[in-house]
Amino acid sequence: MRNTRDTNLLFELSETGRRAHRLPACDVPERPVGELVPASALAAAPPALPELSEPQVVRHFANLSQLNMSVDTHFYPLGSCTMKYNPKRNERVAAMPGFSDLHPYQSEGTLQGMLQLLYELQEYLQEISGLDACSLQPSAGAHGELTALWVAATYFRDRGEKRTKVLVPDNAHGTNPASAAMAGFTTVTVKTLPSGTLDIDDLRRHLDNQIAVFMITNPNTVGIFEPRIREIADAVHQAGGLVYLDGANMNAILGIARPGDFGADMQHYNPHKTFSGPHGGGGPGAGPICVTEKLAPYLPAPVVIKTTEPSPDPSLQGRETDRYHLDYDRPKSIGRVRAFFGNVGVLVRAYCYIRTHGPDGLRRVSENAVLNANYLLSRVKHCLPVPQGDRCMHEFVASAAKVKTEKGISAMDLAKRLLDFGFHAPTVYFPLTVKESIMVEPTETESKETLDAFADTLIRIMEEDADLLHDAPHTTPISRPDEVRAARQPMLVWPETY
Ligand SMILES: *Cc1c(COP(=O)(O)O)cnc(C)c1O
Repeated sequence: MRNTRDTNLLFELSETGRRAHRLPACDVPERPVGELVPASALAAAPPALPELSEPQVVRHFANLSQLNMSVDTHFYPLGSCTMKYNPKRNERVAAMPGFSDLHPYQSEGTLQGMLQLLYELQEYLQEISGLDACSLQPSAGAHGELTALWVAATYFRDRGEKRTKVLVPDNAHGTNPASAAMAGFTTVTVKTLPSGTLDIDDLRRHLDNQIAVFMITNPNTVGIFEPRIREIADAVHQAGGLVYLDGANMNAILGIARPGDFGADMQHYNPHKTFSGPHGGGGPGAGPICVTEKLAPYLPAPVVIKTTEPSPDPSLQGRETDRYHLDYDRPKSIGRVRAFFGNVGVLVRAYCYIRTHGPDGLRRVSENAVLNANYLLSRVKHCLPVPQGDRCMHEFVASAAKVKTEKGISAMDLAKRLLDFGFHAPTVYFPLTVKESIMVEPTETESKETLDAFADTLIRIMEEDADLLHDAPHTTPISRPDEVRAARQPMLVWPETY
């Protein structure tokens, strides 16, 4: 059934003269606007705004909002993106006036609560990563990558070493080589094996005195924990390079393995993924980075520090208390990468999430994320093969290559048809190392019933007539947009009147 909801534009619904409100007659003398505003600031004609009643506007937007898929409305197994449920408790805490009404130009003395939260979050992130220092400034995972690579570049420059290359595996997220290029490095691709893990011989071939950083995602993008990660890190270190961990997959290893312990020198977090910040609609993320001691002096300034000082509160009569400060006195710092203290709203949510779960709870998050992914893998692999392994971490990459050859059903067809059944599509065609790839990440917040419903639907779809799938989805207002054009020219209809 095609979607019958009204998807006209407000401009198309507009009727000249229609109004949402009627104002009472003016009780002061009216004067032409030209007498009040200089001619240079006046438009030649009023803007062509749509004219509608209030219920029309409300229904229009309410209906549009229901065309969206979100974690609050649908199962959203978008691999690599960790679309877990966002607890509403985080929202309540982030909206508390003590956090939400602050202004970054307030004096430090009036920001002690926020600074304490940020300081403690730095400490938690260091503990979870097994690294020594933290910057909360970067605005997203990709920005964290770029910041850390600048830190690395500055570290090598400070040591008088000229290292120009960053190594990136062929199944890495596209942001990795992009960040390396933006930071001024040359990117060199390292192969992965058919089994999905890194080709260590190929890595060794590339290790020379030009190597600055090896970027690795672990668990990697096909959902496998690199079994020889320690050996990999040692080889990079022997060549004088640094190991960067892309921490987007931390949801698989919280409280179980620490990047600092398996050889990472630096990493980013995606709090909007791992620590349940709402994301996916272009909303703000954050990309805190953690680094080892030797890289700490180069982190962006300021960082939040804690001191113990006599309290300024007279009633405490000079008793020692913890005070929190923004430390700008960091001569080796790469400088600011973001205004003020970063996207603090997202950081407050991450803090709330970490404190709510505690260390054991975080470990259970990962255990359940891995359990859910393995359950789903075992339910679908008989009809949708998973080329790289029978077991996975928090996500797996299946392949529609077989069903494409046999029935002409592609990964895209499956992804699109799932929408008709009320499931957000998994990630498709990433990573590029798996043909017709379908990357499924259920997360820990889904019930067995939801996982079963998804598996049953996927299996049922594969038995459907291929022609039905080729023009799916059938229940959305738009079925198959030209995706390249939609991204390059994001203009649906432009009203004639405008
Ligand atoms: C999401 C993701 C990134 C980028 O993170 P953003 O927060 O979206 O900038 C990098 N690497 C991997 C593996 C990811 O999944």
